Amino acid sequence: MSSKFTTINPATGETVKEFPTADDAEIAALIEDSATAFQTWRTTPVEDRTPPLSRAADLMDERRDELAAMLTLEMGKLPDEAGAEVDLCARILRYYAKEAPRLLADETLSPNSGGQAVLKHEPIGPVLGVMPWNFPYYQVTRLAAPNLAAGNTIILKHASNTPQSALAFEQIMTDALLPQDCYRNVFADNDQIQTMIADERIRGASLTGSEGAGSAVAGGAGTNLKKSILELGGSDPFIVLDADDLDAAVEAAAAGRMTNSGQSCIASKRLIILDDSYDEFVRLLTEKMSQFVAGDPNDPATTMAPLSSEQAAADLMEQVEDAIDHGAQVHTGGKRVDRPGAFVQPTVLTGVTPQMRAYSEELFGPVAVVYSVADEDEAIALANDSSFGLGGTVVSADIEKAQRVADRVDTGMVWINQATWTEPDLPFGGTKRSGVGRELGAEGIQEFINKKLIRTP
Ligand code: NDP
Repeated sequence: MSSKFTTINPATGETVKEFPTADDAEIAALIEDSATAFQTWRTTPVEDRTPPLSRAADLMDERRDELAAMLTLEMGKLPDEAGAEVDLCARILRYYAKEAPRLLADETLSPNSGGQAVLKHEPIGPVLGVMPWNFPYYQVTRLAAPNLAAGNTIILKHASNTPQSALAFEQIMTDALLPQDCYRNVFADNDQIQTMIADERIRGASLTGSEGAGSAVAGGAGTNLKKSILELGGSDPFIVLDADDLDAAVEAAAAGRMTNSGQSCIASKRLIILDDSYDEFVRLLTEKMSQFVAGDPNDPATTMAPLSSEQAAADLMEQVEDAIDHGAQVHTGGKRVDRPGAFVQPTVLTGVTPQMRAYSEELFGPVAVVYSVADEDEAIALANDSSFGLGGTVVSADIEKAQRVADRVDTGMVWINQATWTEPDLPFGGTKRSGVGRELGAEGIQEFINKKLIRTP
């Protein structure tokens, strides 16, 4: 059997386990089950919807090591990073368990024409999630925790290379005593995803992943007049305005670039440095990037894990080679690591121009591009010269100046003096081709909600 849903260890290329794709009858039954569960879940008071989320958080704590090991096996994440991802999910689950009643409370309006009006936050129905492999638990939790608290049910189609992580998450929901069918995993193909989106009973779709996948899911949702939320790629700028603490800036940039071996939508991908600091920044960053040790993620000496697949490594190398062929300078890296597995050397490129793919495309791996700019205006112009608009960082000792620059960066999120990251209570999402809508925070929990107006004279 060769299945789409397969665990392949990216550190060795070994096929570990395969799972069959659902058949169409199973998909039909799943939709019916989710829609039926919704009828009860929607009328369950929010205070009774949240205890399973708290229990799920406790289970994540209890199963931390085995959950983390599954990430390492399926997509190669370093054990420390894998454990941190499990911790983050537990925090998200606890946050919505505690705060959902407040975030979903009725809103009293004061109509100009007098009388009373109230906005109620009602769930809309089963929501389909299509998720990627790079943060297999976090991406799911980001959708599931707020939406389950809000009274929606979830059907989750995970990436084909993380089937066991997908099942481990579903098991947590079952063991946390979430009512049956409120959360269901499905191994579906792209046609079946469209079938689900077209079904009247599915009320919304949320995708995290590439632009192509986003366009397919949002296209289906649009055709069927449904809402979709998209969290797509990014090419986040990391702007260094002054050299007050260049070591700290380099540290943050390298960490921002190398998290998850560079496979993060919010990684610091374009490092934009003012002229004065540029040479020293490149020197320090090159030193830092050359120190990463590629290897089996389970080896304690390893500080850089493999990419998620052989294909991902080959794709990244094409982008790097295109840049080199067109005249980019390589300060370190630029090649595959000479060992088995999906490894690309940590790489620092300069001299990247708009003619090169590396200028405009997302580099989903350990490749940093450093640009030098004359001043603040040039930094902002370069930062905004991207079809992406997810996150970004501004570094300066002068916080007001950093905030001023942040205001002019055309992205959904800007973090000052730290690489862009995510927190349970802060809205996450982008603009331009990086996505539509928000997850997490008050904004996220209210995306798949009917804000129902009740008007009283
Ligand atoms: P994909 O977008 O292909 O995969 C993400 C999810 O979408 C998976 O569940 C995938 O399913 C599904 N999917 C893919 N194509 C379709 C489609 N036509 N209709 C419905 N669902 C679809 O990402 P990749 O894993 O291939 O990564 C490619 C690039 O995407 C990366 O280089 C990066 O640029 C971007 N990406 C961004 C992420 C982010 O966090 N924003 C996360 C991952 C990728 P299946 O696995 O079964 O194909």
